Amino acid sequence: MKRKDEPGHSSVTVYGAPWCSDCKRAKKFLGEQRIHYHWVDVETDAKGLALVERVNDGKRTIPTVVFEDDSILVEPSNAELATKLGLEAHAKLSYYGLSPNTEWLPKTVERDCSGFIKTSPTLQTSVPGVFAAGDARLGSTKQAASAAGEGATAALMVREYLKSV
Ligand SMILES: Cc1cc2nc3c(=O)[nH]c(=O)nc-3n(C[C@H](O)[C@H](O)[C@H](O)COP(=O)(O)OP(=O)(O)OC[C@H]3O[C@@H](n4cnc5c(N)ncnc54)[C@H](O)[C@@H]3O)c2cc1C
Repeated sequence: MKRKDEPGHSSVTVYGAPWCSDCKRAKKFLGEQRIHYHWVDVETDAKGLALVERVNDGKRTIPTVVFEDDSILVEPSNAELATKLGLEAHAKLSYYGLSPNTEWLPKTVERDCSGFIKTSPTLQTSVPGVFAAGDARLGSTKQAASAAGEGATAALMVREYLKSV
C-alpha cells in the first residue's frame, strides 16, 4: 500500500483503550503506513473520554479516530482508514507476472515468446560459450536455491567449455 503524500504529514488522533483489539489494529495499521498519530487512552484521559462520548451519542465506542480536517471515523476498518488517508489500497494491476530482463541480449541467444532463455541440459544457450542460469532461464524453478545452484553449474560448464576450445 502506498501513500500519496509525504511521510508524517497527517495529523491523526486515535481515541481508544489498551485492551481494545480494534484500537491496536488501527494503531498497527497507521504505524505500518508511517502515519503520525496521537494516542489518547480514554481510560486515563477524561477529556478524551468526553470527546468519544460526545461524538458517539453518549456511547464509548472506540477506536474513534479524528483527522486533521476534523472529520471522524468510528471503529474504522483498515480499508476505511486507507481511503480517508489517501492511501492506495488496491494493486494497480490485477495480475503481476514474471518478466525476464533479457531484451538486451543479441537475437542469436534464443528465447521463448516470453523472453526466457533457452538452454541445453548443460545450461548452454544457442550461442556456444554463452551460458544462462537462474530465473531468466527457460525451465528454471524460480527458486533462490536453484538459481544459486544453476549459477555454480553454469560456472563449471564454462570451465569445461574453455577446456574444449
Ligand atoms: C516476492 C518474491 C519472493 C520470493 N520468495 C522466495 C522464497 O521464499 N524462496 C525461494 O527460493 N525463492 C524465492 N523467490 C525467488 C527468488 O528470489 C529467485 O528465484 C532468485 O532471486 C533468482 O535469482 P537470479 O539470480 O536468477 O535472479 P535475480 O535475483 O532476479 O537477480 C538478477 C539480477 O540481475 C540484475 N539485472 C537485471 N538486468 C540487468 C542488466 N541489464 N544489467 C545488469 N544487471 C541486471 C537485477 O537487478 C538483479 O539484481 C522469491 C521471489 C520474489 C519476487
